[in-house]
Amino acid sequence: MVFLIGLIFGSFFNVCIYRIPSKRSLVLPNSFCPKCKKPIEWYDNIPVLSYFLLKGKCRKCRAPIAVRYPLVEALTGLLFLLLYLNFGVSFPLLRGVILTGFLIIIAFIDFDTQYIFEVTTIPLVLAGLFLSLLPDGNPWNSLLGAITGAGILYVIGMLSLILFKKEGMGGGDVYLAGAIGAFLGWKGVIAMLFLSFILGAAVSIVLIGLKVLDRKSMIPFGPYIAASALAVFFFGEKLIYLLMPLLPRN
Ligand SMILES: [Zn+2]
Repeated sequence: MVFLIGLIFGSFFNVCIYRIPSKRSLVLPNSFCPKCKKPIEWYDNIPVLSYFLLKGKCRKCRAPIAVRYPLVEALTGLLFLLLYLNFGVSFPLLRGVILTGFLIIIAFIDFDTQYIFEVTTIPLVLAGLFLSLLPDGNPWNSLLGAITGAGILYVIGMLSLILFKKEGMGGGDVYLAGAIGAFLGWKGVIAMLFLSFILGAAVSIVLIGLKVLDRKSMIPFGPYIAASALAVFFFGEKLIYLLMPLLPRN
């Protein structure tokens, strides 16, 4: 059940990923084929299943459908299921579902456009702060986390501008780290940033080694932040103290 609900949400996230960069409505018009512009019937718009039934092609014009659509749907279903299995029906599940949804949208848009839109990050900051008011939450830690996350990336961005005369961090990354801090708290967001730098460096070294990228390529940082944030959200203090053993315990 939870996996199927995740697939349906994933289908909506595809619409967001595709339409937010061009500032189009998320509700209207209904989905249409980007090639022949004909509307997609509901029976051809079933998450994952329709892709296989249509063998990855538009029913009308036979234009190929990007394999990323069913992949985003399956990823969402899988993450929602893991959240449910890990947290049960609880306040952390609610936070996890909201955080995961936004991070999927933000990471894929950043991957496509090298841009993180404020319309995706500012609502996430507000959601994180608001959800910290629930009975199990810690509003003070949430606020401190938002300031810590945004502050660290802001300072790195300024240093990069002064030392290397180039923008090392986009403004969108600053908002995104702030939003994640509101969900993970100040220790969580420090561990998240540390993990995202390790991940980003490791993947870049491999891709430069394989000559997929060269040293001058612009590499979007959002996907690493998103993956690291989900890892810290899932594993909590175990992962935080593994990455950052010197952080104070309480
Ligand atoms: Zn078509």
